[in-house]
Amino acid sequence: MVPARPTEPETPLQVLRRVFGYDAFRGEQADIIDTVVAGGDALVLMPTGGGKSLCYQIPSLVRPGTGVVISPLIALMQDQVDALRNVGVRAGFLNSTQDPQQRRRVERDFLAGELDLLYLAPERLRMDSTVDLLGRGAVALFAIDEAHCVSQWGHDFRPDYLALSELHQRWPDIPRIALTATATRATHAEIAERLDLTGAKHFVASFDRPNIQYRIVAKASPQKQLLDLIRTEHAGDAGIVYCLSRASVERTAEFLCQNGVTALPYHAGLDAGTRARNQSRFLREDGLVVVATIAFGMGIDKPDVRFVAHLDLPKSVEGYYQETGRAGRDGLPSTAWLAYGLADVVQQRKMIEQSEGDLAHRRRLSAHLDAMLALCETIECRRVQLLNYFGQSGERCGNCDTCLTPPESWDGTVAAQKLLSAVWRLDNERNQHFGAGQVVDILLGKQTEKVRQHRHDQLATFGKGTELKEGEWRGVVRQLLAQGLLAVVGDYGVLHLTEASSEVLKQQRKVMLRREPERQAGSGGSARV
Ligand code: ADP
Ligand code: ZN
Repeated sequence: MVPARPTEPETPLQVLRRVFGYDAFRGEQADIIDTVVAGGDALVLMPTGGGKSLCYQIPSLVRPGTGVVISPLIALMQDQVDALRNVGVRAGFLNSTQDPQQRRRVERDFLAGELDLLYLAPERLRMDSTVDLLGRGAVALFAIDEAHCVSQWGHDFRPDYLALSELHQRWPDIPRIALTATATRATHAEIAERLDLTGAKHFVASFDRPNIQYRIVAKASPQKQLLDLIRTEHAGDAGIVYCLSRASVERTAEFLCQNGVTALPYHAGLDAGTRARNQSRFLREDGLVVVATIAFGMGIDKPDVRFVAHLDLPKSVEGYYQETGRAGRDGLPSTAWLAYGLADVVQQRKMIEQSEGDLAHRRRLSAHLDAMLALCETIECRRVQLLNYFGQSGERCGNCDTCLTPPESWDGTVAAQKLLSAVWRLDNERNQHFGAGQVVDILLGKQTEKVRQHRHDQLATFGKGTELKEGEWRGVVRQLLAQGLLAVVGDYGVLHLTEASSEVLKQQRKVMLRREPERQAGSGGSARV
């Protein structure tokens, strides 16, 4: 039973206790809420699970009028509204999934002053009818959730968000609060500028999630590696496994089920009923694993997700951070595990090349991928690298894979020269372009059918790289790609030199490479790629 609404105005703390049943504010929640309650603007950067929702929900309850929340997560609005109604908050939403009658009821409640919170999809604000509606009611504040969507340089740009700057012109006296869980320094500045929030108070919480152990392993047989991780460290735990394609979601879920792990698939190709059923089973039952495309998890509030596994390379550090952030919201030890290999790089480069959009757009995607690769290949603490990416500093964490099993670095200059010159010779002597597999076979001096067919055994570089094993060479290729010393192009992942490659070939640049640490739990079989 929700205690009755008192007649006296309440303080934010009283609302926190009476409505939400929590004792105290966390982190900067109290300051943020005070700012907005007093009518000021706020820009809030807080990691997933940090408690952003209360930062606009409580001011909406304390200030007169309705808090208007702009959110791109249409699929979640119903859940968010249901959760609020369960604690006695009068909430509604307007989006394209409703029929006119449902919409009219929400509009009527809003105009009658009977709504505490109104969730709106951003495209609604483009409609004159919506602006007109808001103008006829009383608005307590505007909350702009997932504010990074306004950034054209970010990883999740939504054109509808650009129109949000107009809120301020139309309603100059109504406070606005913009919130995001993912923003680099540059995105942060861009949000402030585009949303006209330059006068806003900025609240930047630490992006550190100390209870999450970050691990990135070389991909060998990913499904087996995953099963190994689950069996050795996370038996019976709830977890989320991310795959890039629907097909691999299906295959992986099936594989886990066959091996005694209850796993449910989740992707946009499943019908809405199945998706809703799988999602609610995940939320309600213990120890389920959901295998999903990135469509899953936005706003999912399950505190005891013990591991988040990526079987494919995420497209950006922002995406990776957001997805891994769904682990361990309860603060207990959790694992963020990613398996990545050369094929991921090839595939993603190809997707970028084929993506629609202009050159600037493709460059942006490329820069996001490069930052992700740098995180994968770092020999430094993963957490420090992540925090630096978000413009924050940190100490070696002692808990990530590179801290626990420091990878050795070795001088890979000669190896890099050999590999790059093999690519150079193919290009210049033969005008041929091949993928990593063939180049490595040449270096190892393998007499394969393809080598004979192209007479690659005649090349000066043939057999000149027997000091490394095949898996090690693939590691060299991966790291040269990550360092921008090599590029992959086209459908078949052919290798090309970059401008920086010539510095290595001309002895002007030393190349330090990472040696993979010995096998650890969850890092899988011996074949390293
Ligand atoms: P975010 O939107 O930042 O990802 P949420 O607003 O969904 O995070 O909050 C994450 C979880 O933390 C929710 O279960 C929420 O109820 C809980 N929470 C938020 N603030 C507090 C608080 N002050 N005390 C206890 N729990 C809180
Ligand atoms: Zn570390």
